[in-house]
Amino acid sequence: MDIQSIGVVGAGQMGNGIAHVMALAGYEVLLTDISQEALDAAQTLTRNNMARQVSRDKITQAQMDDALSRIGCTLTLTDLGRTDLIIEAATERETVKQAIFEDLIPHLKPETILTSNTSSISITRLASRTDRPERFMGFHFMNPVPVMQLVELIRGIATDGPTYDTCLKVVENLGKTAASAEDFPGFIVNRILMPMINEAVYTLYEGVGNVRSIDQSMKLGANHPMGPLELADFIGLDTCLAIMNVLHDGLADTKYRPCPLLTKYVEAGWLGRKSGRGFYDYRGDAPVPTR
Ligand code: NAD
Repeated sequence: MDIQSIGVVGAGQMGNGIAHVMALAGYEVLLTDISQEALDAAQTLTRNNMARQVSRDKITQAQMDDALSRIGCTLTLTDLGRTDLIIEAATERETVKQAIFEDLIPHLKPETILTSNTSSISITRLASRTDRPERFMGFHFMNPVPVMQLVELIRGIATDGPTYDTCLKVVENLGKTAASAEDFPGFIVNRILMPMINEAVYTLYEGVGNVRSIDQSMKLGANHPMGPLELADFIGLDTCLAIMNVLHDGLADTKYRPCPLLTKYVEAGWLGRKSGRGFYDYRGDAPVPTR
């Protein structure tokens, strides 16, 4: 199937980035959210992020202007029914995602492909509640979308070959690289990354190291560009905990037990960069370790 238009549901940090890269690659994009403020903020952010790319000679002013002209916004979800491929990037809650697909289905073209950017919810389960499980799959971008090279493409149990191939072609048109993953908790990246972050929190919890020594060890000793605790703060500690819970519940193995210290930070509302404090305190000029 030839994809020309993309519907993006949710204009948060991921949806906004997805609209950005799709429009630059030449796709017509229709972005929706339940909040007008989110749509306004996404437009401003996309403009600012593209302007930064222009100033760094990554794209031209003409490419930026063309791309921005290809992004439309609507508060009416069902307007997305006319698009060829829908990427759902709304809040990570299964009931929210299910309701979105339910509302969309009566308005879709028969050939429209449905996808979700979910980090942790079962693609097979989301697909089973739609009218097109064979044309449903996971389209998992990494954050920040314009910067990160990888897209995980996740097949549900029923996803058919042409649907996978069509999504793969879109990823290639973005100049990104796809990794094919089967639909099991955490897919590939989070299945490997989150237990490492959780283990870093256990290392802190058990007093093996402090925040600074743990991050420094992994940066200088394992050549990671960011330490695991710094990375956890960047991702959001609530997100890390939610994904560990999905691994723990879905794989029923105690090796995925979330560290009690991670739970404690989340209960305190110390969620990382987005709340101003996590394993580091970001409220001053430079981040200061909180342990
Ligand atoms: P976010 O909170 O920044 O944005 C979510 C947006 O969805 C909000 O603007 C909200 O208003 C909107 N929304 C909620 N209900 C809606 C509805 N019914 N219809 C339309 N819009 C609705 O979240 P995010 O970080 O952009 O995450 C979005 C999705 O991407 C989640 O599934 C998440 O797991 C996944 N994801 C996130 C990351 C990350 O690092 N943040 C990385 C990969 C994947």
